[in-house]
Amino acid sequence: MRSPRSQAHRSVAPQLVEVLYRHRIHPLRPGHTLRVGQWRAIWADLVDLMAEGVRTGRIDTVRPEHTPEAMGRPPRVDDHGGEVYVYRRTGQPCLVCGSRVRTAVLVGRNVFWCPHCQPKFRSRALR
Ligand SMILES: [Zn+2]
Repeated sequence: MRSPRSQAHRSVAPQLVEVLYRHRIHPLRPGHTLRVGQWRAIWADLVDLMAEGVRTGRIDTVRPEHTPEAMGRPPRVDDHGGEVYVYRRTGQPCLVCGSRVRTAVLVGRNVFWCPHCQPKFRSRALR
């Protein structure tokens, strides 16, 4: 399972980060606190985004209403191309609410999220 050099291994991260945003789930939320329906929705979305990424060679994860054309904003400049909500957008305003995108390191990977759109999950299990 561990093959850090594999292309697939590296390319999963951006879509996963974006999928959490699209479902308004905080990246540090423990997986076991999600409901089955949420898991299914996230998984289906992730599969779609990955297929789209393979097809286009870009990581485009924003919904139609949040594209540069739809919002009248300049396109994103980044070496991986594509339009994203939070991936590698630390400190920049969230496309939806304008809050500054935050980042943290989780199991050796950078995760990104909007503190407003993805509120921290509150549970006694986390304390
Ligand atoms: Zn936001």
